[in-house]
Amino acid sequence: MIDVVCPYCAQAARLVSRSEVYPHLPDNGWRYFRCEPCDAHIACDPRSGQPQGRLANAALRSAKRMAHGLFDAVWKGSHASMTRSQARHWLADRLGMAVADCQIANFDLAQCWQTIAVLRQNRNWQRNGTQAAVAWSVGHSPGDASNGRARLRLPVASRHSDPGKPMHRASSVA
Ligand SMILES: [Zn+2]
Repeated sequence: MIDVVCPYCAQAARLVSRSEVYPHLPDNGWRYFRCEPCDAHIACDPRSGQPQGRLANAALRSAKRMAHGLFDAVWKGSHASMTRSQARHWLADRLGMAVADCQIANFDLAQCWQTIAVLRQNRNWQRNGTQAAVAWSVGHSPGDASNGRARLRLPVASRHSDPGKPMHRASSVA
């Protein structure tokens, strides 16, 4: 039996079925730790039974969804500029934390908002073609900010990274 304490009220959380957390969904065997007075819960890993992070209330759940969505856009989809592993190293570096601790599921509200700010700034750089994220992930990529947008989609083979390198704009070698 795993003891999980609600981070909001410090009372013990109860282990419940999915239908208790989401009454409109059928029970699928998943278990959740829940604190009803705080409207906080977290899903358990179906195999280990371990909670997949800290209990989250509505505000934290919403912030985590936003952070996850922005993070996923960095490494998958049409605007991806890094592999997932590179993106985790990059985010941990920007947040000033160890990669092992860089798990959005475990973040509190302040960490989520810090993550969202970092990821939004990165997204804006990408949109403006200033290549900040790409420059970080490809190291010495030759590039010119004026045509950065066309250079955002790099072949996978050139996405080698140097996590120790500080982020900077690639300088033009043309
Ligand atoms: Zn509570």
